[in-house]
Order: sequence, then C-alpha cells, then structure tokens
Amino acid sequence: MNSDSLSRIVPASTDPIRIVALNFPQTLTAIQTAPPPPPHLTYRGGSLLRNVKVFTIFWGSAWSQPSQTSLVDNMNKFFQFILTSPLIDQMGEYTVPQYKIGYGKYIGTTSIIKPDLKHTVTDKAIQHFLQQEIATNSNIPQPDSDTLYFVYFPPGVTVVQGGSKSCQAFCGYHSDIGGRIFYAAMPYPGCNGCNGASSGMSILDALTSTSSHELCEAITDAVPGTGWYDDNHGEIGDICAWKTKKIGVYTVQLEWSNNANSCI
Ligand SMILES: [Zn+2]
Repeated sequence: MNSDSLSRIVPASTDPIRIVALNFPQTLTAIQTAPPPPPHLTYRGGSLLRNVKVFTIFWGSAWSQPSQTSLVDNMNKFFQFILTSPLIDQMGEYTVPQYKIGYGKYIGTTSIIKPDLKHTVTDKAIQHFLQQEIATNSNIPQPDSDTLYFVYFPPGVTVVQGGSKSCQAFCGYHSDIGGRIFYAAMPYPGCNGCNGASSGMSILDALTSTSSHELCEAITDAVPGTGWYDDNHGEIGDICAWKTKKIGVYTVQLEWSNNANSCI
C-alpha cells in the first residue's frame, strides 16, 4: 500500500511511517490535539527481513576525503558488530510463521563517485541510482528478500522525500522499490535536529542511532506500513525516537517492545 513513496505528499512531521524525526519534540507535540492510545504494533501480513544482509553504499566524492574515511570505516564496523548483537535478539518477538527473524550479516560496502551528487537529491533519484547501480555495477550485490542497502550521503547534501527535506523534517528513512529492493537513505546528521544537539551526540553516535532505527524498522516492516505497524505511532523505531542506549561501543536507539510494553 505504501510501496509508492513518491505519491506521498504528507508533511513528514505528521507522517511517522518511515522517517527518523528531528530531535525536536515540540514539532510533534504541537500538532497533537488529544493524546493517542498507547503504542501497540500489529502485524499486517507483509514482508519482514529474516536474516538481513546489509550492504552499505557511500555515495558522493566527499566520502573519500580524509576527514570522512574514519566515519565510513566506523559505520561498516558498526554493522559487522550490530547484526549479531542483542539488538537483533530484540527483534525476535516479531517473528511470524512465514518470517523467522534471526541474526543478519554485513555483506560489504562500496563508494560511488559517479554520478556525483549535487546539493539536493530526491527519493526518486535515489531509487533510480540504486536500480542503475544494481544493474550495471558488479561491486553491488543483487537484491534478494533479505538484502537491505544503506545509502549514506555526505555533508552538504539534502535529501528530499515526500516533499520534505532532511535536517528540516527528517534524519533518515527506509523504503522499498516495488517490494523487491529494500533500502535506507541516510543523510549526514550535521545539523541540530539530527545530531541530538541538546544531548551533544557525536556525528558517529547520531548516525549509528538513526541507522539502528532504520535497520530495525526495515526488518519488522520492510514495505512501510505492511509489516509490524501502529496506526497512531508508526513503526518500531518511531515510538522511541532519540531514546538511546549503548550496545558494545555503539549508540543505538531504543525500539518498541510489545512484550515489554515499553521502549527497550
Ligand atoms: Zn522510523
């Protein structure tokens, strides 16, 4: 039902379906007139990612600059660690008969400088880029029902999705192309709304936090709104946005647990 994300023109701040909202609580509370019912995710019958295979794509020549290479390394190390960590154990309660959720695997990374990026990139352009690279770039694995591409954008690039801009309305999102290609788009969190300015998060911590959010949402709701979802609160990560904890050395976001009836 939501596979065509391009048709969505609802402002992102009122659309919790797939975005990491900014870390400004008032942007959400200001538009709520009555308290919504307590969160509870229900399963809508759609695809889940069983043993997620994460491939990272760092798009843009800016990633090859010395100041960015350690962030690239650290994000890849993050996935090497987190996909067999207690974060994935937490997802187990959302196993259904057709989709048994278990540990995932980091399957590689690539940097792409051509086509290079301009200051703005739309979700439509990201989908086109992904399909083009999958078809022509032998460094990129072919998609399957467990593959999740994380596309990272360098400083100075604004991502536009559903009429809204990164850093102004959201800090990341996950989506799909025709229920066949699953991806997350991760803008650089170099702005107050996306780096938890009030809590003084580092860029790495902000990016592992938003990446963990999108990872858990892609696993439990691969085609947004068709897997585990709450009509009032959105996906598993939206309910707990910007509440974080450490697993190993990494900052990750808390995720909603139906079993615990809380963010854990
Ligand atoms: Zn979300």
